[in-house]
Amino acid sequence: MTRLRKTLGMVFGASISLFLGAIVALAEDIAELDAIAAQLLPEKVATAVAAIPEGPRKLLAMRSYLRFSGKLEERWSWTEEEIAAFKGTEAQQALQSEIDAISADFAERNRGYGIYVHSRVRSLDTQIDHWNGNDSVGVSGAETYDAWLKSGTASTSPTDPEALARFETWLKGFTPANRAHLAAPGLSRHGRAQAIDFQITKDGETVAGTDYDAIETEWQQGGWEEKLKASVTAAGPSFSGPLTSINEPWHYDYAPQPGMVGATASQ
Ligand SMILES: [Zn+2]
Repeated sequence: MTRLRKTLGMVFGASISLFLGAIVALAEDIAELDAIAAQLLPEKVATAVAAIPEGPRKLLAMRSYLRFSGKLEERWSWTEEEIAAFKGTEAQQALQSEIDAISADFAERNRGYGIYVHSRVRSLDTQIDHWNGNDSVGVSGAETYDAWLKSGTASTSPTDPEALARFETWLKGFTPANRAHLAAPGLSRHGRAQAIDFQITKDGETVAGTDYDAIETEWQQGGWEEKLKASVTAAGPSFSGPLTSINEPWHYDYAPQPGMVGATASQ
């Protein structure tokens, strides 16, 4: 009995120290990732990494940033000030008039149905909130984090250039089998008015929205993917899509030709 209790006590004690060890390692890994981000990424990008509390989601975002390096500046989402400055500009009016033309064409072809667009530019803070709460990011991040811990590039000194290089090479080369449905915070084309999500409505209710689990029931069975595409093709010359790298029948990229902005505004 005494011996059993002693054994149980030892097992229990060992479990606790293992558990505590895991927590300490996790906190260390998170601090390590922030330190690595500060070394490898531009300051505003490293600040976004620091705003992601969970290590796996942090690491997955860093993978995108490292793979995007060189193009980070031109893609980085607008600040709240830049979003406010966009309002009322010729560029914003040109975007809105194409959205209006697509909506009108769609209503004409599909009596009783309409298009809903949430046209506010998606700020960096909003993207960080989505990233921190999204399930697909959690799954993909966990897979990446687990692989990282096993990669041999995890327990390195964050300031050692060779260790940094090994980390960067490994992370850029790793592709998780489970993909996140979101662009890493700051990289969404929605963050600088370069993408629009079109939803289908009827009498104020959503008929086909932005729910991945309802793509087949809402978009495919309803035929809305083709119907939306027809109206975008007819009336939205600056739009291309829908997105297929991740299946999003509602998402169209927006890239106005130079000169088109002025032409639309003068009409
Ligand atoms: Zn979208």
